[in-house]
Amino acid sequence: HKWVYDFTEGNRELKDLLGGKGANLAEMTNLGLPVPPGFTITTEACQAYLASGTAPAELAEQITAHLTSLERAMGKRLGDPSDPLLVSVRSGAKFSMPGMMETVLNVGLNDASVTGLAAQAGGNERFAWDSYRRLIQMFGKTVCEVPGEEFEHALDGAKRAKGTTNDLDLDAADLRALVDTYKTIFRKHTGRDFPQTPREQLDLAIFAVFGSWNAERAVLYRRQERIPADLGTAVNVVAMVFGNLGPDSGTGVAFTRDPASGAQGIYGDYLANAQGEDVVAGIRSTVPLQELEKLDPRSYGELLGIMARLEEHYLDLCDIEFTIERGKLWMLQTRVGKRTAAAAFVIAGQLVDEGLIDLDEALHRVNGAQLAQLMFPRFRLEHDVAPLAAGIGASPGAAVGKVVFSAERAVELAGEGESVILVRRETSPDDLPGMIAAQGILTSRGGKTSHAAVVARGMGKTCVCGADALDVNVRSRQFTVDGQTVREGEVVSIDGTTGRIYRGEVPVSPSEVVRYFEGSLDATESGDPLVQAVHRIMAHADERRRLRVRTNADTGEDAARARRFGAEGIGLCRTEHMFLGDRRELVERLILARTDADRQEALAALLPLQRNDFVEIFREMDGQPVTVRLIDPPLHEFLPPLEELAVNVAVAQERGQDAAKEEALLTAVRRMHEQNPMLGLRGVRLGLVIPGLFAMQVRAIVEAAVACARDGQVARPEIMVPLVGAVQELETVRTEAEKIIAEVVGDSGVEVLVGTMIEVPRAALTAGQIAEAAEFFSFGTNDLTQMGWGFSRDDVEGAFFWRYLELGIFGISPFESIDRDGVGRLVRIATEEGRAARPGLKIGVCGEHGGDPESVHFFHEVGLDYVSCSPFRVPVARLEAGRAAI
Ligand code: ADP
Ligand code: MG
Ligand code: MG
Repeated sequence: HKWVYDFTEGNRELKDLLGGKGANLAEMTNLGLPVPPGFTITTEACQAYLASGTAPAELAEQITAHLTSLERAMGKRLGDPSDPLLVSVRSGAKFSMPGMMETVLNVGLNDASVTGLAAQAGGNERFAWDSYRRLIQMFGKTVCEVPGEEFEHALDGAKRAKGTTNDLDLDAADLRALVDTYKTIFRKHTGRDFPQTPREQLDLAIFAVFGSWNAERAVLYRRQERIPADLGTAVNVVAMVFGNLGPDSGTGVAFTRDPASGAQGIYGDYLANAQGEDVVAGIRSTVPLQELEKLDPRSYGELLGIMARLEEHYLDLCDIEFTIERGKLWMLQTRVGKRTAAAAFVIAGQLVDEGLIDLDEALHRVNGAQLAQLMFPRFRLEHDVAPLAAGIGASPGAAVGKVVFSAERAVELAGEGESVILVRRETSPDDLPGMIAAQGILTSRGGKTSHAAVVARGMGKTCVCGADALDVNVRSRQFTVDGQTVREGEVVSIDGTTGRIYRGEVPVSPSEVVRYFEGSLDATESGDPLVQAVHRIMAHADERRRLRVRTNADTGEDAARARRFGAEGIGLCRTEHMFLGDRRELVERLILARTDADRQEALAALLPLQRNDFVEIFREMDGQPVTVRLIDPPLHEFLPPLEELAVNVAVAQERGQDAAKEEALLTAVRRMHEQNPMLGLRGVRLGLVIPGLFAMQVRAIVEAAVACARDGQVARPEIMVPLVGAVQELETVRTEAEKIIAEVVGDSGVEVLVGTMIEVPRAALTAGQIAEAAEFFSFGTNDLTQMGWGFSRDDVEGAFFWRYLELGIFGISPFESIDRDGVGRLVRIATEEGRAARPGLKIGVCGEHGGDPESVHFFHEVGLDYVSCSPFRVPVARLEAGRAAI
């Protein structure tokens, strides 16, 4: 079995086997770019090592063979006392992963070869001892887990003794002394001397990289980022080149475009006379890459040439790491660079303009999550305001409010009309009311799957979690950070995208992208490259997508906004709110009606009100289809709470007042009280129990449509019966509805469809029967998820989802993204059997999954006709429907 690949043997397609770093080093080698020679030990070797605890049999031999040819290519032997070859040992998994062992440079140095290195560098002793102390430091820290601070303290001590803060002021003798100190530290922590045998150094470093795959931080990171646990990491062994040989040497990093804004130009940092890790460690301040032009114009020119070449080759933004050794440029890493959401759109647009990619590819390179991010309002930081601290951006948005430290206080202050930010060490189900009341949530512990993060995302509420610099003291109602104290009632601003926390109120501005969608910003006139890129890519998505996108809207206002966002109809118009407010009293009358006449009177009073609601919506939608769902939740939700009523009745009786009405209500409420309302008298069940209720709604809908038609406006109502589980339920409602429709429509030309929601598992499983009576299906995936899993969303999300996510039972909450295997299977079955029974059956989705990127792809695959989502998700759904189709 082949466990080791020379750089000349690999290529960028082999990321699974060689890791990202190794695959790209090979790719650059084969492009003829100046990469120091080296080889990659595969992820398979790592997997084998981790599975059995020992290296596979042929691995040592293969490493030896590759090392030998490396030595031959370089004309040096590893750690040769008179002229040593040195190598770096670098981890590199398929996905870049903080928390794993990173890199050990200068492997091969020991007490003897350090002298040889100095001699070979023209007697540069300083360089040789600097390299040696770096080896002990990195090897000690990453391979042997010696606390890194001890080395740093020793280095600081040496600088202090010299009266400097710059490591360049340390001379050969200082560094030699530092090596002795380092060796002592090493011995103290490991109980052994720093290994002097070069090959032992190499092997220990390689196995440490393997082992670091299972380091606690790496495991945690993988779980959060949903990276499979069994991939393993590759190890790259690379001949050293030296950036610390003097002022004509150095090291740097660069991006081929600005990863923040996407702007073209040269973005990078350079540090003269240094080795790679110094740039990141911030040992000295770097200079902008442009300065390199003055320091070393030849290398600079070559670097720009290579950057252009890489972009042309990868057809994308690349980031790179390089080193210059005495005027000679070496490439040490490249990859397609990470970027912000804005840069993703801008760069995709630019690459189309440059003729490097086509619009399909541009569409492929952006996604709905990025678009959603661009639609959140953002903090407008006039000047560089330093954040108080930063945590993990767990649920995006910009929230400003007074800090509170308990759920009770959050509810209290929010009740007084204040915006509050709930600050906790971590949240628990007890905090739920406070989380609902708060504008934003801030915790000092826990990651992206913590209770706070999961619940906040579910509620669409801004959340920053795991801000571990915050010392939260709930008892004294304050937190301290960095010597500052923030007390209850003080204002903070938290950014759920970047995780930053600011003291005081940071002004919030609306997103440009939303202004563009709303039509208050013109794409071509604005001159904003982001808006232009979004405009173009959205247009292409619309051209490509097969799924239509509708919206969930209950009011004319929502409908109008959704249309501006590109909605092509209403997929779910809930009618419940039409029974609230002033109309509550009419509902009470309906429920308390003793006789048919009483009931008819109450319904007749509701009818014109409902009709007006629908007229408004039909007008806004101007000929687009509108799916109206007949009333769904249990009626007792429209009645006063049981306890309150009971008290009122008792008080009235005490005082000898007439409480007949209250008593009747109380009886009705008692009668309707349910143990499990979610599984109770809902949807069609209610319609079948209260005579005339559905009929009144149907009449209101059709009369509204006819009224529009008489005004010359097309209205396309689709009447949707909720919670059907058996075809007989639907047939009963439909027979009654059809009579009314025929009577009201008359010769108006209005067309009305009658269909059903598929949200009870039994409906999905008997979809073939139900389709006989339904002119359309709409999956209510929220209920289908609740009933498919047998848990109620309102009760369980805060109670145990965080634990399920932590354990990996859920990759993501099934309410956030559709559970393809279970609930998704119900959707597939119902679609297939429904269409088999009624070819061409129109099928959509009206649960919140309709706006979730992953779920949109699923619905496309299943072949639905449309998704429907909240107005703000409409652009996201359009984009993802386009992406699903390419
Ligand atoms: P990371 O994945 O953390 O970026 P790398 O393996 O890229 O770790 O190593 C970090 C830095 O170490 C590189 O950017 C480079 O500057 C330096 N480095 C790695 N290998 C070599 C080498 N063979 N010669 C010189 N510098 C190296
Ligand atoms: Mg690197
Ligand atoms: Mg439902």
